[in-house]
Amino acid sequence: MTDPGLPPFMSAPGGDAPPMSNSSFGQSMGAFGAMLKLQQNISDRFPKAKVPWSGTREFLKASTIELIRSTSLYRFHMDFFREIGLGNMQLISYAPMHYIYAVPNNPVCNFYPALNNQKVCVATTDALHRFFREELELECSVEEIECIKNGNEVCKFKVDLQPISAYQVMLDEYDKMILSGVRPPVDDNELRDRVRALTVYKLLENGRLSEIGNAYMQFASSMKVEEKIFDPPWKLKEKLSSIADTHSTFGGAFGAMTKTIQEQQSEKPVTPEPVVSEETKQLQEEAKKTDSFAELLAKMKKNQ
Ligand SMILES: [Zn+2]
Repeated sequence: MTDPGLPPFMSAPGGDAPPMSNSSFGQSMGAFGAMLKLQQNISDRFPKAKVPWSGTREFLKASTIELIRSTSLYRFHMDFFREIGLGNMQLISYAPMHYIYAVPNNPVCNFYPALNNQKVCVATTDALHRFFREELELECSVEEIECIKNGNEVCKFKVDLQPISAYQVMLDEYDKMILSGVRPPVDDNELRDRVRALTVYKLLENGRLSEIGNAYMQFASSMKVEEKIFDPPWKLKEKLSSIADTHSTFGGAFGAMTKTIQEQQSEKPVTPEPVVSEETKQLQEEAKKTDSFAELLAKMKKNQ
């Protein structure tokens, strides 16, 4: 009878555990706990933070940092990230479809006590990507461009939106009328604002449909997506703060707030899935993977 021998893992020479001082072990475990807590917050709260297109539209059409900072979506986003443990983020630079956010004293840097001289804040990059994709339905790429752990003063994150998905959310029926050369039923001021936004986004050029505008309109007419209407996740918070402003006594405000919260709880949250045809779904998938209109149009033609 031959000796079957020891299973390979038993005969392998025992390796030494990597050297690790007690303090760095403690630090690592603390950081690990903080990271788990963040992950827990993200999986608890992200599903409840879906933003209707109307809220995202206001954000996309705001064309200066000050205007962006005054949108409900921006305030909600910054509060939301702070509450889940991602620090005090703020917008510091903007160009249409490009946003740079900074986080001073970024707590996420402490998640990686063993890493130095590199950009480490993957948790923030991932959270930004998820927020734009899942809550706002905007395809994008996100990159940490500066990091405290890499010797920079603050951590900075660059968000680049994919134009097709930004246009899809940003343009409402009136904008589409303007792009089709039809005047929507709005006053002159609103018309001017809309034309300005469409020009900033390069869909109009000197008051006429640009090449990009033309390509997008062809694309959009082949892709009908029903907009879902529901309350923004900041509705309750804004309602409560307006109650606090209008009541002079704590008791009065408290009563009204309790009533508002109860009403809110009895309402069913509605975030229905869009009803789209197979063909549209396929096109949407293509659009996600495509960077330029030219490429997308070529694909559409090929499929016809
Ligand atoms: Zn960083």
